Amino acid sequence: MSDGESENEGASKAPLYDKVALIGLGLIGSSLARAIKRGALAGRIDGHARSERTRDLSMKLGFLDQVHARAEDAVKDADLVVICTPLGAYEAVLEVIGPHVKPGATVTDVGSCKGAVADGFARHLGPGVHGVPGHPVAGTENSGPDAGFAELFENRYCILTPTPETDRAALERLSTLWRAVGSIVELMDARHHDRVLAITSHLPHLIAYTIVGTASDLESQLKREKADQAAIVETQEVIKYSAGGFRDFTRIAGSDPVMWRDVFTQNREAVLEMLGRFQEDLVALQRAIRWGEADKLEDWFTRTREIRRGVVELRQAGRFSPTEGDEAKD
Ligand code: NAP
Repeated sequence: MSDGESENEGASKAPLYDKVALIGLGLIGSSLARAIKRGALAGRIDGHARSERTRDLSMKLGFLDQVHARAEDAVKDADLVVICTPLGAYEAVLEVIGPHVKPGATVTDVGSCKGAVADGFARHLGPGVHGVPGHPVAGTENSGPDAGFAELFENRYCILTPTPETDRAALERLSTLWRAVGSIVELMDARHHDRVLAITSHLPHLIAYTIVGTASDLESQLKREKADQAAIVETQEVIKYSAGGFRDFTRIAGSDPVMWRDVFTQNREAVLEMLGRFQEDLVALQRAIRWGEADKLEDWFTRTREIRRGVVELRQAGRFSPTEGDEAKD
C-alpha cells in the first residue's frame, strides 16, 4: 500500500481543498484528477481544456465533477488551481484566469521547467493569491485524458520551488496533497531545478529525438542505395531491429512534440550547458574507441551500471508499481 492510500484511509475527514480546478486535462492533469478523486482530497474537481473533444472525453472518463469551456469559469471559487497545459500556453492561461482566482487560493502547476513560472505567477496573480510552482517528476510518453491513471505519482518525486516570500501554510497544504497522491515532496530553488532536470530529463529526450531522426535518415539512404541496385526494397530495418537498445530511445522519442518544444525553448541555457558537458564526454569515449582503450570503456560502463542499480534501488526505474525496486536486480 502506498503512502497516499494509507493517508486516504482517513478520507472521511474534511477534504484538503473544497474545490480544485485543473487547467489542462491531458496525461498529468487527468492523472492528478483521478488521484485526487480516489483519495477524496477535494470537495469537487472542475476542469478546463481547450478542445471540446478533450472536455467531453474527460467527463465521459468520470474524473471531473464539471468541465468548462472557459478557464475563468473553472477557477471561480476554487481554493486550488493547477495549471497542467504545455508551458507555452501558461502566459495566455494566466492572463485569462488571473483576475478570477479568489484571494487566499493557491495556484500551482506541473510544468517541466520552473525558471519562468514564478515570474508569470507574480505578474498575473492578484494580491492574496499564493503562487507555488511545482513539477511532478512522473510521466509517460503518452498524452491526453485517456492516457492518465491515478497511480502515476506513486513513489515519484514532486519538486516544489517556493521562494522565501511563499506563504508557508499554502506550501504545506500543497505538499500534503502531493504526498496524499503518493509523491515524495522535495523543495528546491527553481534555477537549480532547471539545471538538474536538464541533465536527468531534458538532455535524454534530446538525445533520443536525435538518434531516432539520425537512424531514420540512414534508413532512407539505405533504401535509396538498394533501389539504385535494383534490389527489392526491404521492410523498415529501423523498426525491425529496434530491440537492440534502440527501442528505449524510440519510446522516449515518441513523447509529445509540443510539450518538448516548450521545454527546450524555456530551459535553453541549462540544456546548452549540459549539452556541452555531454559532448565533451562523448568525444572522450570516441577517442577511447578509436585508440582501442578497452579498459577505459569498461571502467566507464561499470560506473554507469552502478548508477542504474542506484536508480532501481531508489525505486525510480519506472515500473509504476509500489513494490518497484524490491527485486532491485535488473
Ligand atoms: P498533454 O497530455 O498533451 O495535455 C495537455 C493539456 O493541456 C490538454 O488537455 C490540452 O487540451 C491542454 N491545453 C493545451 N493548450 C491549452 C490552452 N491554451 N488552454 C487550455 N488548455 C490547453 O500534456 P501533459 O503530458 O499532461 O503535460 C502537461 C504539462 O505537464 C506540461 O507543462 C509538461 O511540461 C508537464 N509534465 C509532463 C510530463 C510528461 O511526462 N508528459 C511529466 C511531468 C510534467 P486539448 O487536449 O484540448 O488540446
